[in-house]
Amino acid sequence: MLGLRSIRLRLTLWYVLLLAIILAAFSAGIYLTLRHNLYANLDDSLEARANDLMPLISQEGARPTLSADVSADSPDLGEQFVRLYDASGQLTFDNSGAAGSVPVDGGAVRNALAGGSATRALSVDGEPFRARFVPILQNGQPAGALEVGRAAGDVSDTLNTLLVILATAYPVTLAVASLGGVFLASRALSPIDKLTRLARRMSADDLSQRLNLRLPDDEVGRLARTFDEMIARLEDAFRRQRQFTADASHELRTPLTAVKGEVEVALTRPREPDAYREVLQKVNEEADRLIRLVGSLLTLARADAGQIPVALEAVDVANLVDSAVEQVRPAAQQRDIELVLPPGPPVTLRADEDLLLQLLLNLLDNAIKYTPSGGRVTAGWSTNSAQVDLWVRDTGAGIAPEHLPHIFDRFYRADKARSRAQGGVGLGLSICRWIAEAHGGSISAESEPGRGSTFTVRLPR
Ligand code: ADP
Repeated sequence: MLGLRSIRLRLTLWYVLLLAIILAAFSAGIYLTLRHNLYANLDDSLEARANDLMPLISQEGARPTLSADVSADSPDLGEQFVRLYDASGQLTFDNSGAAGSVPVDGGAVRNALAGGSATRALSVDGEPFRARFVPILQNGQPAGALEVGRAAGDVSDTLNTLLVILATAYPVTLAVASLGGVFLASRALSPIDKLTRLARRMSADDLSQRLNLRLPDDEVGRLARTFDEMIARLEDAFRRQRQFTADASHELRTPLTAVKGEVEVALTRPREPDAYREVLQKVNEEADRLIRLVGSLLTLARADAGQIPVALEAVDVANLVDSAVEQVRPAAQQRDIELVLPPGPPVTLRADEDLLLQLLLNLLDNAIKYTPSGGRVTAGWSTNSAQVDLWVRDTGAGIAPEHLPHIFDRFYRADKARSRAQGGVGLGLSICRWIAEAHGGSISAESEPGRGSTFTVRLPR
């Protein structure tokens, strides 16, 4: 909950921070543009007035002066003034008396006398003014300077008002936007809250619950659906785990019950040594089965835990298949089954030789187990540039289509009684599949009931 809240907070803070920067830039832009334009207008009007006045200036000796009616020309002297300077910078005309004690900008005057025009900001009794200085030319030479001034109070008032508006609107906008941000972030994150609550209710014992949130196909909707899919996979894994434990217990109990039964019957009264021998033989057989079963369980458990190292080395496939066939030859002969190994192409493979041998032995062992006397078992391999196929084919009973998809499942047997009679525990093909997959390959089976089966292991080269 705290984490969610902090996402909400962080989102909002980022949003407000961004907005603050954008608003500040925007306000500054407006203010500076307006200021620039207003002052440019004012300066233009000053320049126009200076141009208007220039023809009215007359030179009395070396003193530039203006006809008296200029005062009538500028009725509001509190708002503007005109001053003239001679070539030495002395004031020769000044109607600025009404504008207060206007300071003389000596630098600007000297600049005008040197032929340059300039606009200056000045302050008269605390009131902002702007003044334009232009040279008075006589025969192309500066003979004096004209200064035209105008109050800039309107402009600065307008700018100040704008500043007040911006300064008020800025925090208000930010506050409203923050509230909006919190609201939006909460809205966007509320399905996640829901998801958290539902997820918390789930436990390993009850994985049947699903969120089933009807959300649109957006980020959160996909998250919820992914979550449901994950729970479904977990449920399946847990179910298989439980099934595996139940199956394993059952498989362990059967031989133990058989042992106990034999021993109890034998102990009911004294018996001949041969009878004891017979009982011990049966106990021994069951013990063998238990050892095989526990061995297979251990292999699978270690494979599941990733504890079986797959040591890749160069494996000569012809050698590998040959040694597997030779190992099962006695069993085949015993059951009067013909064992055939047709020659194949020379090929080497990077694989774990011991594991591949175990895989082939399992397949050959099954083929011999499930093929009646007089049948034939063939082992071989083929290859192309990408893969090597190892195969074991028999002429046995085959596997019915309904069983075929399941035979690689743990403890699955198509024919329980027959498998058990042959000493099978139903884990051999699961181990084969693990070995094939640990090599990046796959295993598959094809079968025609009554005619035989073919198991193919496909391994990448
Ligand atoms: P099991 O120990 O029972 O042989 P496996 O995992 O090796 O266990 O095989 C699973 C089941 O697949 C067997 O019980 C059997 O029904 C079927 N099966 C495997 N190999 C063959 C085969 N070559 N011919 C017919 N059925 C087979």
